[in-house]
Amino acid sequence: MRLILLGAPGAGKGTQADVVKSKYNIAHISTGDILRANVKQGTELGKLAQGYMTSGKLVPDDVIINMMKARLVEPDCKEGFMLDGFPRTITQAEALDKMLAELGIALDAVVSLEIDDEVVVSRLTSRRVCKQCGEIYNTIGKPSRVDGVCDKCGGEVIQRADDNEGTIRNRLSVFHEQTAPLIEYYKKAGILVSVDATAGKDSVLKIIERQG
Ligand code: ADP
Ligand code: ZN
Repeated sequence: MRLILLGAPGAGKGTQADVVKSKYNIAHISTGDILRANVKQGTELGKLAQGYMTSGKLVPDDVIINMMKARLVEPDCKEGFMLDGFPRTITQAEALDKMLAELGIALDAVVSLEIDDEVVVSRLTSRRVCKQCGEIYNTIGKPSRVDGVCDKCGGEVIQRADDNEGTIRNRLSVFHEQTAPLIEYYKKAGILVSVDATAGKDSVLKIIERQG
């Protein structure tokens, strides 16, 4: 099973991927997670990406494309993968098509998680994340038992640097301008499936199970 999870920031691509992963042994590839790990480790890639990320802009296409070329040939991709946060531009989508053709594989589906901008703003301004294990909290829906401390690992629970309202609105306009055209791109390819992003954490899993 090879899937793309498409959707605005805050649509819940990562959450849906976690639910799928609990049932299927396929790789969850989040470009945002890879980039954040590089920023944390202070690699060349991380240094380059950091400024774009904190302002909510896209990291340049060639950087992301090279990163993904290396990632898709890792052994854990053999059983399939879910791409979360890639592609994000038409240029990236065309590069992905080329990579897949060279590998002799094809996508099964592109799932578009549909969500209203104002729901995203309220979701992301209240989102918190454990610095240590990555567990996601929400100050409204799912607070940690002790403020600022992770229930799972005791790590520090923080707000992501790009989860402030100004940056969130930038990320949303970047999404509408650069990423939303991919919906049409994959519709034309005949592999687009649209779902309501507020319908539940297992919407993507249900689609996979329906497809068999
Ligand atoms: P979200 O989907 O919530 O915006 P991500 O964790 O997917 O967050 O991405 C965080 C940031 O990493 C983005 O705002 C962008 O700067 C960068 N990024 C992630 N994926 C890509 C990509 N495919 N192309 C360009 N930049 C990316
Ligand atoms: Zn934790």
